[in-house]
Amino acid sequence: MNSHDFTTAAGLAAHARDLLERSSLGAEGPRLLRRRASGKQINQIRALLDQSSRITDSEGSARHFDDWYGEPITPPVAGDRTTSPGLLESFLTRFESESAIDETTMRDTVERVLADLIAHLDVDFAHLRRIDREWKATVLVAEWPRRSAPDPDPLSVVYFDQAYSPFHAVENVSEPMITCADSYFGQQVTSAVVPLMRDGESIGVLSFVKHGDWVWSQQEVGVLRVIASLLVELQRRVDAETRAEYLSTHDKLTGLPNEHALLDFMGRRLRSSRPGPVAVLCVSLDGLKLINHHRGRQAGDQVLCNAAGRLEEQLEDDDMVARIGGDQFVIVPKKAMDPYTAELLACRIQQVLTGRTILDDGTTSCGVSVGVAVGVLGEDAADVLRQADLALRAAKTQDGNGVAVYTDTICMRFELEDDIALNLRSAVSDDSLVLHYQPEVDLRTGRVLAVEALVRWQHPTRGLLLPDTFIGVAEASNLADELGDWVIRAACAQLSDWHRRGLASDVVLRINTSPMQLINPNFVDRVARALQLHGIAGDSVCLEITENVAVQDLNRTDLTLRALKSLGVQIALDDFGTGYNTLTHLQALPVDIVKIDRSFVKYLDDNPHNRAIVESIITLARDFELAVVGEGVETTAAAHTLLTLGCHRAQGFLIARPLPAEEVETHLNTMRIRLDLDEPPMLGRPRAHRYR
Ligand code: C2E
Ligand code: CA
Ligand code: CA
Repeated sequence: MNSHDFTTAAGLAAHARDLLERSSLGAEGPRLLRRRASGKQINQIRALLDQSSRITDSEGSARHFDDWYGEPITPPVAGDRTTSPGLLESFLTRFESESAIDETTMRDTVERVLADLIAHLDVDFAHLRRIDREWKATVLVAEWPRRSAPDPDPLSVVYFDQAYSPFHAVENVSEPMITCADSYFGQQVTSAVVPLMRDGESIGVLSFVKHGDWVWSQQEVGVLRVIASLLVELQRRVDAETRAEYLSTHDKLTGLPNEHALLDFMGRRLRSSRPGPVAVLCVSLDGLKLINHHRGRQAGDQVLCNAAGRLEEQLEDDDMVARIGGDQFVIVPKKAMDPYTAELLACRIQQVLTGRTILDDGTTSCGVSVGVAVGVLGEDAADVLRQADLALRAAKTQDGNGVAVYTDTICMRFELEDDIALNLRSAVSDDSLVLHYQPEVDLRTGRVLAVEALVRWQHPTRGLLLPDTFIGVAEASNLADELGDWVIRAACAQLSDWHRRGLASDVVLRINTSPMQLINPNFVDRVARALQLHGIAGDSVCLEITENVAVQDLNRTDLTLRALKSLGVQIALDDFGTGYNTLTHLQALPVDIVKIDRSFVKYLDDNPHNRAIVESIITLARDFELAVVGEGVETTAAAHTLLTLGCHRAQGFLIARPLPAEEVETHLNTMRIRLDLDEPPMLGRPRAHRYR
């Protein structure tokens, strides 16, 4: 055979002509294939050509099959009938036009094909059976005409080891077989069985049955082979689509349905006429990230597969369990469930999943949080899933390992958080942040010693937001550094403005810092630049750090603080007394001042324990030669007690609230705040503190 260039339609067509002239498809074949080859289905035609070439390569393609009832028959002789040229063409046209075939429409399509073939070949019955190698069975795909089969149809799935001989025989058939045998009714039937070959293995058989003795021409068998090969292509396409459909609805790792399939299920359940409400449980493995990190991804995968298995064991067959993200599963029980029962189920699930998982190299376990929401019939699936997800967030913020049921309060809380997370970045850049300043005074004289810059956010719809609503979000979303930078620049600009106007010359500006700022290697440079830009001496600024800053990496914090101190900047340990390693930090870090946390100061008089704590902090500060400030002074009694215990510096609502810059200027003008302390404390000279 000539060699042709298969990459062009012309080459392909020439090859087809060669091939078909040598084959038994007749004169119609080349015209047909040439026309097809120039069309969009070149690949399918190429597959067809491959198959056709086998007709010419294998001699005597219609092999006689003698292993079916009865005696061997003589090999068939080509009769007078010729294959109608329209058969292949009409089949190809149908094949091309049925582009939307999938698993569900396959049967109808094949039935139509079989009906066409029966009409063309003038036979009595045809069927297509698939071979399932895993099940070791043959499965009926379609037949024509349809039998009036009992239900279940015994011929629907026939296992090879149980099959009577004709089905048993198709398991390994690789060439067309013509058989002749007596049917159950004593009538003779002739069959042509054509295998559907894929990658050297038969994936099914196409069978035609004719009552009586019937001779199949080689031309007919050749056409059937071509049709079988096209059906293989069709099956390949359907398989690919089925696989794609599976992948688009299932999680690869666990094989559980994915979010897409979950929402589909929830949508149908919430719209169904079955009774509600419908419970949705969002389950999260809290420590998965850590396991991935420390034990490797493979261990994490094992934990997930194990959890998937345990969840399936716990649930009934009709319940939905899906994996919708890294460490997140969702359960939707099929039966109606009220919030209370759903919460009980959540607790059970939590217990089951918290158990140890055996890994290849040891065991592990992780915490589990579950969020529960209950949807009423008619509710939107995505809404209910969102509610369960918010409940999960609430469960996780209770230190993880918890169960939370969705409420409106949870919704409001997270709506605010999400809104903040979405808008905070632009707030930092578009100047909607503002600083308020809270004075700190000497309780004995009312003299203003410092002002603390406290950030607020002028939110476009929610009004003036206090830092507690957004600092945490900033820290969680890597914005704290940027926000802190803004605060330093804005506060220094303000102090410089005051200095220019002759205000606050002896006042220390206190600026709060986030842990994230301190670990940034550029932090010291940024502070230096801000001081330089605004012409401010380092010692008129004090940076406040909280103990959790120090905890992260004591050595590194120590280096950073020393570099800051070399600029003259002072360091305050804020919220003092609330941390775990207070003494270590005092000893290890170059701190100038401690600020007693307001929780101890607020109830200083009512609570003897608080008094003892405050007293020991003051003693400690004195021993370490540090200044000490009492925060959160709200009552004169608290002010008196601080004074009595030897703490003269104080800040609190009793003295002044945090104020906008122009309002705090009133105090900066006089440099004194009149304190209405009922009982004048014992006045003494302010004690000078030696700063390290
Ligand atoms: P903080 O550093 O301990 O600041 C003092 C907080 O106590 C301020 O709350 C202040 O309004 C409040 N306060 C002052 N006196 C009293 C009082 O007598 N009674 C009561 N109940 N509260 C009093 P604010 O402004 O809401 O700030 C809260 C926290 O937000 C601050 O606590 C600080 O940790 C953080 N923060 C504020 N501004 C910044 C900032 O610019 N950067 C960073 N990283 N954190 C900031
Ligand atoms: Ca502070
Ligand atoms: Ca504080």
